[in-house]
Amino acid sequence: MEKFEVIIVGGGLAGLAAAYTLANEGIEALVIERGDYPGSKNVTGGRIYLNPVRQYFPEGFFEKAPLERPVTSEVFTMMAEDSSTSLRFRCGSWAEPPHQSYTILRGKFDRWLGERAAAAGAMMVTKNRVDDLVWDEGKVAGVTAGGEILGAEVVLACDGALSLVAEKAKLRKPGRPKDYAVGFKEVIELPRQKIEDRFNLAEGEGAAQFFMGSLTGGRFGGGFLYTNQESLSLGMVVGIGDLMEKQPFTEAPRLLEEFKRRPEVAALIQGGELVEYSAHVIPEAGYEGLTRVYGDRLLVAGDAAGFALNLGVTVRGMEFALASGVIAARAVKQAFEKKDFSVGSLSKYGQLLKESFVLKDMETFRAAPEVLDNPRFFNHYPQLMGKILQDLLTIGDGPKEKLSSTVLSHLGVGEFAGIVKDLWKGREM
Ligand SMILES: Cc1cc2nc3c(=O)[nH]c(=O)nc-3n(C[C@H](O)[C@H](O)[C@H](O)COP(=O)(O)OP(=O)(O)OC[C@H]3O[C@@H](n4cnc5c(N)ncnc54)[C@H](O)[C@@H]3O)c2cc1C
Repeated sequence: MEKFEVIIVGGGLAGLAAAYTLANEGIEALVIERGDYPGSKNVTGGRIYLNPVRQYFPEGFFEKAPLERPVTSEVFTMMAEDSSTSLRFRCGSWAEPPHQSYTILRGKFDRWLGERAAAAGAMMVTKNRVDDLVWDEGKVAGVTAGGEILGAEVVLACDGALSLVAEKAKLRKPGRPKDYAVGFKEVIELPRQKIEDRFNLAEGEGAAQFFMGSLTGGRFGGGFLYTNQESLSLGMVVGIGDLMEKQPFTEAPRLLEEFKRRPEVAALIQGGELVEYSAHVIPEAGYEGLTRVYGDRLLVAGDAAGFALNLGVTVRGMEFALASGVIAARAVKQAFEKKDFSVGSLSKYGQLLKESFVLKDMETFRAAPEVLDNPRFFNHYPQLMGKILQDLLTIGDGPKEKLSSTVLSHLGVGEFAGIVKDLWKGREM
């Protein structure tokens, strides 16, 4: 049996960040990736927040990365059947370097990160799927991939949201549909100038847009649109539990087609060429759904551990994946120094995570999945907002009511009580 110091399952952000860090520490790291190249199978909406992760990489590391556009403006849109209400926010300081967030395309970004890891000395095997863990006296001793058995002192499970490795190691139970969402996305090519004109952007700047409401038919989720250099990333995220349960049953790709036909979206993508379609699962269970992240000779990082946080206004997973990959590598380095790969020794990873923004943010927003699991956000409020604004802004053929009377006519006691209740619950976030 061929043996390596560390085997990393999955060449996504978590796996590649771990490989890069280990290789720089002189530790032998083999990444096994099932895709043709790192990033070939990876899906994201696509905006990465760099501020939390810069500290985990050498200075200037991300300046050389294939980033698309720094996000300088955000648009939040509540969609009703026949109307929509948008809020646009532009932030001057976001336009100044170091930019807080960038749009990215994973095909390019992961490939670049994979090259950095390889240049640092990590080994990469692509087009190979890890099928199982190898055990020796109850401890993880390696993996099987492509019919071969490969041994390792430590295995890092960085194999994404449906982590086979974490499940085989019994570090987590199979998830419930409610704990996941499915994301589906198109990349639509448009000329650079057209993007800047349509989205009201200065040269090189980028926009992020979120949509919620009738586009998901009252289901948990929403839509997103990010501007890349010469393309748009357009997609939707829908809770798998709601997709299965809510009637009438609709297939996710159909929701995306209807979303694209909405005038608010159709005008933005008009004339663009669809060049890529992808779909992927996203962990949505938050802090309560986290995987146990260490075992005997095994660590779990990124989506595989459940490190993803959807607050409705921000979607974060990529910086958790990068940081947890680096933190896992640091814990492994300490284990190598002690030559002790037991649970006790690798529990250092849990401690380092607790001290980092990864677990701190997951814990701060532990109530998010419960607060957001509220159909009124996805159905009622966008409709209510649309109705109030329509009545306020429509001039009919008769005399007009006072503006205050118009608003109050929509906010009866029951409505008011519902809003207060939802706001009260929202204080937990
Ligand atoms: C539609 C959508 C929109 C999103 N939007 C955002 C966003 O805007 N911002 C943000 O920060 N996050 C976003 N996320 C979440 C973010 O993409 C993830 O949190 C991030 O990709 C996690 O990285 P990872 O390395 O843990 O997992 P992944 O990127 O999933 O990488 C896992 C890797 O493991 C490989 N693999 C899996 N199983 C095996 C196996 N058995 N053998 C070998 N290789 C294997 C896969 O091919 C893949 O390369 C979004 C996700 C989706 C789906």
